[in-house]
Amino acid sequence: MEIRFLGGAREIGRSAVLIDDSLLLDFGMSTDNPPRLPVGSVDPDSVVVSHGHLDHVGAIPSLLSGDARPPIHWTPPTAELAMVLARDTLKLHGGTYRCPFAEAELRRLTQVSETHRYREPFEAAGYEVTLFNAGHIPGSAHVLVDDGETRLLYTGDFHTEDQRLVSGTVDRPDADAVICESTYSDVTHDAREEVERAFAESLRTTLWEGGTVVVPAFAIGRTQEAMLVCEAHDLECYVDGMGQEVTGIVRRYPEFLRDPEAMARAKSNARYVSGRDGQRRRIAESGTVIITTSGMLSGGPAMTYVPAVRGHPKHKIALTGYQVEGTPGRDLLETGSAEINGRVMPVSARVEAYDFSAHADREGLRAFLASYRDARVLVNHGDRCVAFAEELQGECFDARAPDLDETVRV
Ligand SMILES: [Zn+2]
Repeated sequence: MEIRFLGGAREIGRSAVLIDDSLLLDFGMSTDNPPRLPVGSVDPDSVVVSHGHLDHVGAIPSLLSGDARPPIHWTPPTAELAMVLARDTLKLHGGTYRCPFAEAELRRLTQVSETHRYREPFEAAGYEVTLFNAGHIPGSAHVLVDDGETRLLYTGDFHTEDQRLVSGTVDRPDADAVICESTYSDVTHDAREEVERAFAESLRTTLWEGGTVVVPAFAIGRTQEAMLVCEAHDLECYVDGMGQEVTGIVRRYPEFLRDPEAMARAKSNARYVSGRDGQRRRIAESGTVIITTSGMLSGGPAMTYVPAVRGHPKHKIALTGYQVEGTPGRDLLETGSAEINGRVMPVSARVEAYDFSAHADREGLRAFLASYRDARVLVNHGDRCVAFAEELQGECFDARAPDLDETVRV
């Protein structure tokens, strides 16, 4: 089996792995401007997608240009999330270098889509492929590829601990080689209950003081997790942005949720904002909690809420995810001001950050890899892949971190 790393090698943002020049696993794009796309040109016989985040699925429609119609295999939620992301990219950037496909290719997605449940093997490009719950977001999968001689496990993004939205990964299928993500290989997450308790207490304090809390959250996964946390802690909230549509999608697939009834209660507990800026400004003044995109303050309704609350220290901005360097969210955390709508704004509202990660941490990665002591481990999807591979070598793993466009034979 020959594995070529077209993206996500020693980096995060454009995951793509090509097996024997015929089976493609993921085809993502980064959110940078200009966006980074996987390297080389590919013409796969078949495609399997691990989960519905932009950096794993964002460039998929571009595989359907000309006469190319490779079947695309994924879980039902991933298929729908891919459509939402593709429509969003087209709406925001269609016709520019920031969108690598057109309307025609997007429409072909449904023609080539083949959905599968977890643990039900299927054939793709001559391989037997099986998806397993990866515990990252609804529909996220580990991908097992078997050519009859060699079994390759591509972890995709995964979490070993339960979140409110999805249960952690428990399946450990036999494999000869593992391509393992390493996003948080040098981080130990605080216990989720502690993070949650501190988050809920902080929100409650601000509400008591008559302030409003803006909770910037990614639409896919984090918005629903924040809604579940609010409901569990008896905090009313508004929800704005693409997270509303995504909540509708994940609720249609209850078997991919940890607790569908809790999600139903969280939906009832939340009030959806329909999207006029006048309404948004009134809500921002009403002393409430607003969960809104974008998670790193780089667009979305947050661009109305943040200016509305920034002037007074009784208000709060509670970040819920990793803030990539160079984003307004990161600037806000580090400098107390951020560029919003093209203007650098000082922020007097309090700014806090909570680690609601959906990825395995240092201990989680090791707990997972303990089941693959005899396998070859290929580390990808991280800022320090080489360092993590060296740590694993020190623990007697056969591990390395392939470089971009490198081909590895297993
Ligand atoms: Zn992801």
